Amino acid sequence: LLDQLLTRQERRESAARTYARTLPVAPVRAAGAQVVGADGRTYLDCLSGAGTLALGHNHPEVVAALQADLASGVPLHALDMITPQKDAFSEELLARLPGALRGDARLHFCGPAGTDAVEAALKLAQTATGRRGIVAFTGAYHGMTLGASAVSGPARMRSMVGADSVPVTRIPYPYSYRCPFGTGAPQSGELSARLLESMLTDPSSGIGKPAAVILEVVQGEGGVVEGPDSWLREIRRITAQHDVLLIIDEVQTGVGRTGHFWACEQAGVTPDILVMSKAVGGGLPLAVLAYLPDLDSWLPGDHTGTFRGNTLAMTAGRITLRTVAEQRLDRRAGQLGARLRQGLSEIALEQPQFGEVRGRGLMTGVELVDPDGDLDRLGSLPAAPAFAAALRSACLEQGLMLELGGREDSVLRLLPPLVLSDAELDAVLERIATAVRSVKS
Ligand code: PMP
Repeated sequence: LLDQLLTRQERRESAARTYARTLPVAPVRAAGAQVVGADGRTYLDCLSGAGTLALGHNHPEVVAALQADLASGVPLHALDMITPQKDAFSEELLARLPGALRGDARLHFCGPAGTDAVEAALKLAQTATGRRGIVAFTGAYHGMTLGASAVSGPARMRSMVGADSVPVTRIPYPYSYRCPFGTGAPQSGELSARLLESMLTDPSSGIGKPAAVILEVVQGEGGVVEGPDSWLREIRRITAQHDVLLIIDEVQTGVGRTGHFWACEQAGVTPDILVMSKAVGGGLPLAVLAYLPDLDSWLPGDHTGTFRGNTLAMTAGRITLRTVAEQRLDRRAGQLGARLRQGLSEIALEQPQFGEVRGRGLMTGVELVDPDGDLDRLGSLPAAPAFAAALRSACLEQGLMLELGGREDSVLRLLPPLVLSDAELDAVLERIATAVRSVKS
């Protein structure tokens, strides 16, 4: 059955599919961190819909609230009109926002994907400042639409959209394992921030004054690369001083994933524009911006669209935000993540291909390298993409779904739901250890 399903769909769908090829599972049922495939096997899900399902699959409270909505006859879609669901979601979200945004932000529902919210954030920054340029970081991932691709790091993404869809200046992200400055953390953070400051201070740098700087606090698709707190605070200070807006993309890091409700809270930094999607919709498509009210420079209709806040997504999102906050699942993510990385570091002791184990909360990456390869000019070992792909397949064989990202797709990425149990965490580690042995032998 599985083979039939996969072959039929192979003919029907575009060649751009990824997960369907790397994880040939065809899920039919799921609960919590477990997914049952069409082959009847149960898999532990360390993807959770690319980080979307903070409460795991089919959380009973989310399901009950969705069923109640459906039974009540509420309009499933109401454009950008007000519904009780939107009212309740907005109230919940505003109460959870970081710093000065809490309680007092403007919300812009865009939709329905993370990339739409990034697009809206770039346009808002340009409209509010009357400037066009955007400063972005190497290794960044902000989505696949034109503007979001333009501010993303990988050259492959940008070459497809043309370099000039948005005027972008790129600065090295502080990546201590493969430090672009040849230093390592925290110096790489200082050098990255200094570079931004000198570009903004020195008129001969030729970039002109940009509208905004956009960044991820922890780069997810870029390979789980974490910007130091001191770097983030410096970027905030410099942008504020130069009257440049700071856009923080918390599409992947938001809603408890990194051990804080928002990743920017660890450094005590609040952006001018916060970009949210994934977990904020509790597993249904929803994307929203929060920004300071004085930036609300749009006129009615300036940035609109059909799908701007789906009723059911707002309900699933509200329950998710509330449950993560009330049950302190952000803290739990911090504790589980530390245990996960401890276990992975123990595997790494026996496994020279595990170059670095890193991450924050339940956003974990293992940078896989070729330990026998030559060091590059910055002193880094070569990436090990073939080993990484073999390890991902071996993990799937063991009943564990995870993904790759980062440089040459050689960073093993784990994004389990925040409700992962202790026993499931142990099983994740056991399965990785077994998979590693099977790839080695
Ligand atoms: N920003 C970040 C940080 C992301 O991780 C992603 C998706 N992985 C996006 C934006 C784009 O979101 P979407 O895939 O929903 O368009």
